[in-house]
Amino acid sequence: MVHDTRPTAHELLSLPRLTPLVPMLYVAWTDGELTHDEIRALGAAARAQPWLDLRSNTVLARWLDPLMPPSPGELAQVREYIRRTAERLSHSGQQSLAELGAQLSEVVSEIDGMPAPMQELSRALAVLEESLGVSGPEAVRNLVPAGAPEPPHPRPTEPTRFDPEALRAVLDRKYPEVRARVRDWLADPAFRYVDTRDTDAYRDKVLAWLKALADDGLGRIAFPSGDEAGADLGAFIAAFETLAFFDLSLVVKAGVHFGLFGASILFLGTERHHREYLPKVASLELPGCFAMSELHHGSNVRDVETVARYDAQAGNFVVHTPTDGARKEWIGNAARHGRMATVFAQLEVDGKALGVHALLVPLRDVQGKVLPGVRIEDCGLKMGLNGVDNGRIWFDHVRVPRENLLDRFGGVDEKGEYTSSIPGDSKRFFTMLGTLVAGRVSVACAALSAAKSGLTIAVRYGEVRRQFGPAGAKEVRLLDHQTHQARLLKPLARTYALDFALEHLVDRYVKRTEEDAREVEALAAGLKAYTTWHTTAVLQEAREACGGQGYLEANRLPALKADTDVFTTFEGDNTVLMQLVAKGLLTGYRQRFEDDRVFAVLRQIADKAASVMADRNPFAARRTGSEHLRDGDFQLRALRYREEDLLASVALRLRKRLGTGVEAFEAFNQCQEHLLALAEAHVERLVLEEFLKGVAAVKDPGLKAVLSRLCDLYGLTCLEDASGWFLEHGLLEGSKARAIRKEVVRLCAEVRPDAVALVDAFGIPDTCLAAPIGLGHLSP
Ligand SMILES: Cc1cc2nc3c(=O)[nH]c(=O)nc-3n(C[C@H](O)[C@H](O)[C@H](O)COP(=O)(O)OP(=O)(O)OC[C@H]3O[C@@H](n4cnc5c(N)ncnc54)[C@H](O)[C@@H]3O)c2cc1C
Repeated sequence: MVHDTRPTAHELLSLPRLTPLVPMLYVAWTDGELTHDEIRALGAAARAQPWLDLRSNTVLARWLDPLMPPSPGELAQVREYIRRTAERLSHSGQQSLAELGAQLSEVVSEIDGMPAPMQELSRALAVLEESLGVSGPEAVRNLVPAGAPEPPHPRPTEPTRFDPEALRAVLDRKYPEVRARVRDWLADPAFRYVDTRDTDAYRDKVLAWLKALADDGLGRIAFPSGDEAGADLGAFIAAFETLAFFDLSLVVKAGVHFGLFGASILFLGTERHHREYLPKVASLELPGCFAMSELHHGSNVRDVETVARYDAQAGNFVVHTPTDGARKEWIGNAARHGRMATVFAQLEVDGKALGVHALLVPLRDVQGKVLPGVRIEDCGLKMGLNGVDNGRIWFDHVRVPRENLLDRFGGVDEKGEYTSSIPGDSKRFFTMLGTLVAGRVSVACAALSAAKSGLTIAVRYGEVRRQFGPAGAKEVRLLDHQTHQARLLKPLARTYALDFALEHLVDRYVKRTEEDAREVEALAAGLKAYTTWHTTAVLQEAREACGGQGYLEANRLPALKADTDVFTTFEGDNTVLMQLVAKGLLTGYRQRFEDDRVFAVLRQIADKAASVMADRNPFAARRTGSEHLRDGDFQLRALRYREEDLLASVALRLRKRLGTGVEAFEAFNQCQEHLLALAEAHVERLVLEEFLKGVAAVKDPGLKAVLSRLCDLYGLTCLEDASGWFLEHGLLEGSKARAIRKEVVRLCAEVRPDAVALVDAFGIPDTCLAAPIGLGHLSP
């Protein structure tokens, strides 16, 4: 006769000493992924527990015999038992099978008088649970679906005590009155989004908005007295940044007219230009364009082909487009409204080519009719920014007075002679371009505002929208999903970091001198590229984080994405700008050993090699604890190390090539990837440095706590992203890389309860966010 020796629920459940193990035994058999060896190992570990008697041990061995699994019916009985007993527990929300087992045994022991040394039991069970290798909380949720309204993985931390208004004051630190003024403008019902599909109507609306702002003094913020001394472009940038919470066509049109056309007159012109034109720019009486790019020359402006030839007899310039590739392309405000343009052209005086200069060329009369010799075409429908009338312009021997040359750096006198304070054409050209850096600073600030809008929409939605949850319980909020936290809160931390870094940039820009002008230009180039790339990535993430709702025009994200996409291209293509940053760093590097170049280079390299081997490795400490990882100084040293290493190594590579006769352009081209990595490492380090300084200056303990956490999240995210490089260079061990990754996850969970308050602190007027999804049809 054959006996069925399969284990039964009855024998298991009748032995109180086995009760703490019941949830684990159930999961071991129902998980479906445990191998025979794993089940055997669990059995061996369980049988070693001191509280088991002989009888319990025998039954346990039967329950863990991999060749004799319990039947589904027996397992169902066990599950039923667990659920019924769990109902009698005074507390719910167990986080592990060990905890559940220990609590079940408490209930049973009350009945049967078995002693329940809870802490010891839990500890021993936890070791067993680990050998199971399953997710405890998830297994518990499946086993005992709680009837509780909130999910069994509650928020990891309490919100930090801080006042979002006080945080907003920290973010509005510079020019708060200007920002308040723009917020007041945006509160006016006139500033509401319009249907953008009718391009003509949209463009008219954008012009009307701009006119209303000019009437209210937007232009006078930049040019209060029509001269350079009175100009406050820092205040204008703050206004521009705040305006960028609203329609971005308006922002770009304002940027073209005030920021590019106005600033070119201010910085490239002289007193008579200021007097004559700036008041008309401020009032928008003279809508203007900035005509630099051509069809064949976008990034490479030095080689534009438009010509401005001086006619000594007539005493004026002849501006001409020699080929179709030389037509001015993409010019904002040109297709419909611009009446005058700052045109960049190759200057020729007395048969001599003098390089690129800028002249004021009238385009239309007061009635808006295009002037003779000028031809303008509309660029057509774009991916975004369709409220801006971009156009292409051809000039056919257009004559403009000698005085229209913006002659701060070089001019033609009454005798027809060219004079300049800067002798070299190339140096003069770069000096001229350098003065126009405000455009890049403004674009970076506006881009960050758009990133803030996207994050505000997605974070608020993530707080109210629920998807999935434990069986029988309420679904959880999107922001309580771990991946959702990572995809929104890491960018949130970077956005805060950039806010501090851009404040530093504006400050340096406002206080720049001739000596540090180049450095400020490089700073602007790097931060413009880094911020606009960040914005593009954030808005894509925000769109996806809102699911299908993010795709709806009414929810603002499509326009934000489409309008800001090109920020990575205009005002200097990002890749080209990053090369400029790297070249700037190399110039500084060369200056460090200018006295005795070759030997100093060799010494520098030797120093570097020695330091890599020795204690300069920022990861030399193997510590992986939170306290160590959350040390800003450690994070900064690591980022600085990467930057210095990339700088030294690219310098070495370039030197080798140049030393063997490779032509300079080709040598740089062979190292382009390396140069870009250097530029990114530089900007990332700089952003962290500014964030750390900003947090150190905050006094309020609540604000300091929440900002410090964001700062750690930014610093460690940078290290996490760069861990490949550090591992590749043998500076970082796998265990530390893993610890960094885990710390980032932990920090995201800690920031999560503050997420909504952190986006509220951006102070974006609700009207600018349109009808944010989630707030209308969902209740929290
Ligand atoms: C909507 C819009 C509005 C604009 N408004 C104005 C305006 O008002 N006034 C004005 O003057 N211009 C304006 N522009 C033009 C803008 O400044 C140029 O598009 C920009 O400078 C890039 O030039 P490009 O389009 O010719 O691109 P290209 O210079 O041809 O670049 C194309 C690609 O090649 C890469 N590349 C180029 N050079 C290098 C290099 N050295 N190394 C590696 N990669 C390289 C770039 O990274 C880029 O990805 C506007 C453009 C747009 C789209």
